[in-house]
Amino acid sequence: MAPQHPSAAKLARVAKEAKACTRCPLYRNATQTVFGEGPVGAALMLVGEQPGDQEDIAGHPFVGPAGKMLDRALVDAGIDRRQVYVTNAVKHFKNEPRGKKRLHKKPNRYEVEVCKVWLAQEVSLVKPGLVVAMGVTAAAALAGRPMTLARERGKEIAFGEGRRGMVTVHPSSILRVPDKAGRHKAYAGLVRDLKLALKVLQAA
Ligand code: SF4
Repeated sequence: MAPQHPSAAKLARVAKEAKACTRCPLYRNATQTVFGEGPVGAALMLVGEQPGDQEDIAGHPFVGPAGKMLDRALVDAGIDRRQVYVTNAVKHFKNEPRGKKRLHKKPNRYEVEVCKVWLAQEVSLVKPGLVVAMGVTAAAALAGRPMTLARERGKEIAFGEGRRGMVTVHPSSILRVPDKAGRHKAYAGLVRDLKLALKVLQAA
C-alpha cells in the first residue's frame, strides 16, 4: 500500500468539520456538504462554483452533467482525473425549489466569502502546483477580487501569494449554450485551457 501523504489525515479532519458547517444559511436547503475530492499533493486543483443537484444528492463533486462534460474535457486534454483534486468554492448547493425541481441559484458574495475557510484549507493542504478556477465565482474566491474571464483567461495569474493559477469557463456554462456550434466552440475552449494548464505544470 502506498504511504499516506502527511497532510491527508488533516484534510480528512477538515472535510469532517465541513460536514457540520452552518456558517451561512445554505446548509438549510441542501442535502449535505460536498467537499473536494482527489489526491493530497495533486499537481492540479480544479475549482468550480458550487455543487449541483446531483452532486448534492451524491455527496461528491462534479458527478452530474457538468461533471461528465469536465471528465470528457480532461480526457481530451490528456489529464487523468484521478490525479486531480476537484472541488468548489461553495460547499452547499444553493437552490430554489420549483415544483419537483430545484433550480440552481448563484451564491452571493457573503456566502462565497464565509465558505472560503474550507477552500483555503484545501489549497493549503493539497498544495497544488496550479489551481484552475472554472468560472468567475471560483476565480474571485481564489483571487480575493472581482474577476472577468475576458481579461484573465488564457494566461497564468496569481491566486494569493505565490499560488499559481489560471481561469477557464465552468463546464455548466457550455451546457447552457443554445446552439450546437456554439457549444462545440465553448467546449474546445475548455479543452484548450486545460491543455495550457498541463503545459504550465510540465514547464514548472
Ligand atoms: S455553503 Fe459553505 S459556509 Fe455555507 S454552510 Fe455550507 S459549507 Fe458552510
